[in-house]
Amino acid sequence: MLMAPEEYRESLRALSPTVYINGDAVSSVADEPLLTPGVNGIALTYELALHQQHSKVMSAVEQENGLTVNRFAHINRTSQDLLDKLEATRLACQYAGCAQRYLQQDALNAVYETTYRIEADGVDDRHQRFLAYMKDVQERDLTLGAAMTDTKGDRSKRPGEQTNKDMYVHITERRTDGIVIRGAKAIVTGAPYVHEYLVMPCRAMHCDESDFAVACAVPVDAEGVTVIARPAGRPGQPGAKFSAVFAQSVGMVKFDDVFVPWEKVFVDGQVEAAKHLTHSFASHHRHSCIGARAGFGDLLIGACALMLEANGLTYDGAPHLADRMTQLIRMVEGFYACGVASCVYGDADKSGTARPHQVFANIGKLLLANQIYDMHKIAHEVSGGLVVALPEPDEDHNPATAGSLPDLLKGRDDIPYQQRADVARLIEDLTASYTGGWYSVISLHGGGSPAAMEMEILRNYPVPSKQDLVQRLLDRGVLAVSDDTSPDKDPGRCCATGCNTGLPGPKRSYY
Ligand SMILES: Cc1cc2nc3c(=O)[nH]c(=O)nc-3n(C[C@H](O)[C@H](O)[C@H](O)COP(=O)(O)OP(=O)(O)OC[C@H]3O[C@@H](n4cnc5c(N)ncnc54)[C@H](O)[C@@H]3O)c2cc1C
Repeated sequence: MLMAPEEYRESLRALSPTVYINGDAVSSVADEPLLTPGVNGIALTYELALHQQHSKVMSAVEQENGLTVNRFAHINRTSQDLLDKLEATRLACQYAGCAQRYLQQDALNAVYETTYRIEADGVDDRHQRFLAYMKDVQERDLTLGAAMTDTKGDRSKRPGEQTNKDMYVHITERRTDGIVIRGAKAIVTGAPYVHEYLVMPCRAMHCDESDFAVACAVPVDAEGVTVIARPAGRPGQPGAKFSAVFAQSVGMVKFDDVFVPWEKVFVDGQVEAAKHLTHSFASHHRHSCIGARAGFGDLLIGACALMLEANGLTYDGAPHLADRMTQLIRMVEGFYACGVASCVYGDADKSGTARPHQVFANIGKLLLANQIYDMHKIAHEVSGGLVVALPEPDEDHNPATAGSLPDLLKGRDDIPYQQRADVARLIEDLTASYTGGWYSVISLHGGGSPAAMEMEILRNYPVPSKQDLVQRLLDRGVLAVSDDTSPDKDPGRCCATGCNTGLPGPKRSYY
């Protein structure tokens, strides 16, 4: 059953996780002011699923069991499902900046595909086990945190080579009733205020690393779990127009010999399946990141347009700013278009899930990872220095200053000072504050650092088919240039007969 936002908050009060922020223990995550903007972000996903106008995109019928579920708890089967997920993510992020809960959908889809493979390999009824777990999550409308990124230690070493084995979460004991895990996940979105974690491996494991190939569900308040979290956004700061209301906490999650019953164990040493899990989560999640950052981009586009207007400028009068606005729109809709293409050209996994097209999903995520910095720059250029120089909001109530500020700091006469100030503070919050930096870093590293995307693009792109295409043109003589002596040609392809460069394979004729 779909929960209402207040029921979600109440459900958190029923849990007793061990959470620390700034060195202090948190007694109730739902009532902790430092976490309120993050709890609001997740609560919004509950609200939108019940909202008359948005429920169509924010909820779905789960084919597996017929339940009406939150979009972020749904298994995608079609292109339309992928598109609905992308739109739902964009929508939720237009309101919340980063709606956090889409990670749950990415993780559920990836684990679904993985347990299907393990069961198909004849190991046991792992998929049925996962389906029962998933149904419970969907029925209770839980929120799951995606706990994948291990602390990793020395990056040049494999998990088993680390001086501290806990750098990667691993199995320490196998019992008749379950497994025991140990280690730490370094960065988990929403860690303090989710109901459970889906623990997943963050890299492909070798055969002799099977203890590290573990995926399971762990309640946030299971014995041995400790969350060390950061505040969500800039709670309580008057100038934090956005992130005092909606933001995200991230937390490190420690697993100190945590017992996991078999019902919640989905991978325990099946290295090939675990490899699929890591890989599949990455592509589902990169696809979601595109929708998330498009929602953020919508906020920037709107704020920049309002700022430009408040400053008394028009596109005709300031063509360079029209150019910047066009660039901003091009960036946002450019990477979003990759997300849409990824839905259209996605394929069916053998488990029945719809998978986003790898190349488009990775290109879209790579574009936004790099362009987020340009997006911030454009917001700064369009808005002027006021976004970091405006007197703090308390001056608006200071009798010594308040009287003159509106007159001196307003722009266009017919636009109230307060509106200009609010938009300037919003832009500061989103681009030039701690929250602004946070949006840069999550865009760059969330879902994997740029190099990971670059590798995936090259790995999945059909370069050989493009080579064949050109080769066929060469074979048909379309590109024939009879007296071409250019030295730039590939070895062995410099003339009609092909020179002997010692490379294996037949020599081809171009003419
Ligand atoms: C705000 C935020 C929220 C996040 N939320 C989640 C979440 O909910 N769940 C989750 O599991 N993860 C989450 N992440 C983690 C994210 O997936 C990682 O940040 C990302 O995978 C990069 O890992 P890292 O931060 O450990 O950086 P590193 O792995 O240390 O990478 C730093 C740089 O070193 C390079 N590098 C690393 N290892 C090697 C190597 N062996 N050889 C060559 N180059 C290397 C990388 O390419 C990169 O450029 C979140 C991250 C952020 C910033």
